[in-house]
Amino acid sequence: MFPVKIKFMGRNSVILNNALSLFKNIVPIISHELESDIKKKNGWRTRFAPSPSGFLHIGHAYAALVSWIIAGENPDKFLLRIDDLDYTRCSKSYIKKLKSDLKWLNISWNNKELYQSQRFSNYATALQQLLDLDLIYPCYLSRLEISEFLSPPIDGVLKQPSTRQLLSEQAIKKRKEKGIKPALRLDMMKAIKKTGGLSWSSLDGTIKKAEPEKFGDIILGRRDISSSYHLSVVLDDAESEIEVVTRGEDLCASTDIHRLLQDLLGLPSPIYFHHPLIFGPDGKKLSKSHQSPSLSNFRSDKTLPNRILKMIMNNISTFV
Ligand code: GLU
Repeated sequence: MFPVKIKFMGRNSVILNNALSLFKNIVPIISHELESDIKKKNGWRTRFAPSPSGFLHIGHAYAALVSWIIAGENPDKFLLRIDDLDYTRCSKSYIKKLKSDLKWLNISWNNKELYQSQRFSNYATALQQLLDLDLIYPCYLSRLEISEFLSPPIDGVLKQPSTRQLLSEQAIKKRKEKGIKPALRLDMMKAIKKTGGLSWSSLDGTIKKAEPEKFGDIILGRRDISSSYHLSVVLDDAESEIEVVTRGEDLCASTDIHRLLQDLLGLPSPIYFHHPLIFGPDGKKLSKSHQSPSLSNFRSDKTLPNRILKMIMNNISTFV
């Protein structure tokens, strides 16, 4: 393939060239073997799961297109899940906009859309299941109180404390009377004893040992929303019969927790594909707070989606 030089005009050209240069250090992530596997299977059933708390940016476009490739560009295999669990931060207008951004990226999806905000009863049933097994317990401590017990991060992971015995019956009663709602924590050591050693599979064929003990007694039911990221994604992926969970590398560590929850709840374990993240010029992951230009800044460029697709599959240096 010969290098393609692209010229853009005006203000958008500056934004676009900056955006494209963000891809510079990303190695091609779809190997030829993977590409032919995807073709043979006519795509893996996978999903794109944005949180509608802001506009999509170029990092989301990249993530969506990676999922689209894994799905074999087959709309039946590409599911759209709206991660609006934290509904106070989400809005309908962002949902509308992200759907039109996906259409602009030439992505179409299975008509079974899933909304986390409509699944609270499923999350409650799973929490009850774990409560019946005595694997979760209520925690009435405040965030500030907890911070005193947090272990220093190991591999970037903060270990949550076991708070089961920290408050007296009397203190718990007082807090209940004040109307304080508890968070629900997993008794990690007990859960691990129940499941034994676990591992999960990566799409490149490697098997990774799960080490959920690194995380300690994680919260599965937040006191404000009665669920948590970990619990909801595990239940939602099972509900949608996801074969490959496609998501960013920043969520790779959480897979150890997800594998444990799948085992405790009797759910199948999908295969995982963690793609690289796009970093801004300051070396930080693109985010809404990062003032990353939203996709609407690029909408006038009809060829960008195809160019990003090629970047993911080939040598991106030909594009910058
Ligand atoms: N909603 C999550 C995100 O926006 C993705 C959830 C997941 O893939 O586990 O990063």
